[in-house]
Amino acid sequence: MPLRICFIASEVAPLAKTGGLADVAGALAKYLHLAGHDIRVFMPLYAQIDRSSLEVWPVEFLQDVSLRLGTQVYRFSVHTARLPGAATMIYLIDCPALYARASIYTNDPDEHVRFIALTHAALMCCQRMGFAPQVVHCNDWHTGLAPLLLGTVFSWDRLFLQAKSLLTIHNLGYQGQFSAAQVADTGLGLQDFDYAETSQGRINPLKEGILHADHLSTVSPTYAREIQTSQYGWGLEDVLRQRTADLSGILNGVDYEEWDPRHDRHLPVHFDARQLQGKAELKRLLMQRAGLEPVATRPLIGMVSRMTLQKGFDLLFDTLPAVLAARDVALTVLGNGDARYEGFFTELQHRFPGRVVFHRGYSEELSHWIEGGADLFLMPSLYEPCGLNQMYSLRYGTVPIVRHTGGLADSVSHFDPATGKGTGIVFNDFDAGGVRWALDTALDWYAQPTLWRRIVHNGMAQDFSWRRQVAEYETLYQRMTGQS
Ligand code: ADP
Repeated sequence: MPLRICFIASEVAPLAKTGGLADVAGALAKYLHLAGHDIRVFMPLYAQIDRSSLEVWPVEFLQDVSLRLGTQVYRFSVHTARLPGAATMIYLIDCPALYARASIYTNDPDEHVRFIALTHAALMCCQRMGFAPQVVHCNDWHTGLAPLLLGTVFSWDRLFLQAKSLLTIHNLGYQGQFSAAQVADTGLGLQDFDYAETSQGRINPLKEGILHADHLSTVSPTYAREIQTSQYGWGLEDVLRQRTADLSGILNGVDYEEWDPRHDRHLPVHFDARQLQGKAELKRLLMQRAGLEPVATRPLIGMVSRMTLQKGFDLLFDTLPAVLAARDVALTVLGNGDARYEGFFTELQHRFPGRVVFHRGYSEELSHWIEGGADLFLMPSLYEPCGLNQMYSLRYGTVPIVRHTGGLADSVSHFDPATGKGTGIVFNDFDAGGVRWALDTALDWYAQPTLWRRIVHNGMAQDFSWRRQVAEYETLYQRMTGQS
């Protein structure tokens, strides 16, 4: 049966994206709509959103609405648009005081307010539209207060009587804590929040979501297990364990309309598993574009990533220079973030000119080129809730080298030369020895063309489509709303 779903997220691709959350939000909204559900997506109208490609129109009865949070009154208006490439309705919360900033996320002192306001505004929109959601699906700390707000500020409204809340954790490492002295910013009182936090002077929106949501999900089955341990729980493992019966792990999907080497709109040449010459040509073009020495037989490793501790760059400080010194291999890296990682790759590029290139920044287009043109894709993550790039890599015949954690463990299986089964190179230990072993193994296998072709083909045959994964969310929604 079609469901009414209110979906609230801080970023939704292709409108605003810093990472996987946006890809997931955009694709999930698109495929739930295609499956016949009435899904309405709420997100901020950031100044960064390119409105030229969007047909945006104002919602007449949602103009210049007042939202009082503590002593502040914010005024917002709402515009609707169709999500590009899909027919899903998206509601953009226009509040320049909060969303016209230099970047999507900031370190400004009112960062928490920006997303608490989004959450309030989304629920207020439901009220004014007379939209009675059966599911309120919130994502990460930014919208983690939605379940608590439904049970307090909005509980008087019969519109939400049937509403069940789902919090999806895309990354437990970001919890959005702020000082309990700023409690008024939430529209709630201190007594409404978890005592363990407030007594220490903090409010933790992600923890509040975990405590109050009717159901919890995270973005891979392995990560769902991992976050209940002290190694991966970021201090929330105990509350997560208390809710273990309500916690599901659903692997993210890939939007193959966006990520498929047969028709990728960012690529100058296309290919598939039977016609791999196109991939070789793309590698040549990528090396040329990047200024790498044009050696077709030299294995090319790609990386596309936010540069944070999570992504395992610390393992590479000693390993990559050693591997580059010892073996004939090239490296192309796209990303930005922490200065020490950016500095490391800048230096590596100077040290190995023509074999290493570092593109500092963010480029959707170049990320597709690297996924398509590289031979190998490196993701040595410390932790990885799901990870998307390894799944993109598989589809592009770019063999992933990953650590056995979270969604990486659920989507890449270590190749076994004896059976010919497996899709990549998987290492266990988060240490330099582990990643060195993985890189050496990958390069040794690359030197054996028949074996390599087998790994490439195994990967390209995988199906991680959203069309499939979305059914898991439908089943979960149905369970939550008592329809199954
Ligand atoms: P996370 O959400 O932790 O950053 P994921 O692998 O789930 O990691 O998703 C990352 C997404 O962001 C992928 O689509 C990836 O291609 C993209 N991405 C990350 N950094 C960049 C960049 N510098 N340029 C372009 N795309 C990037």
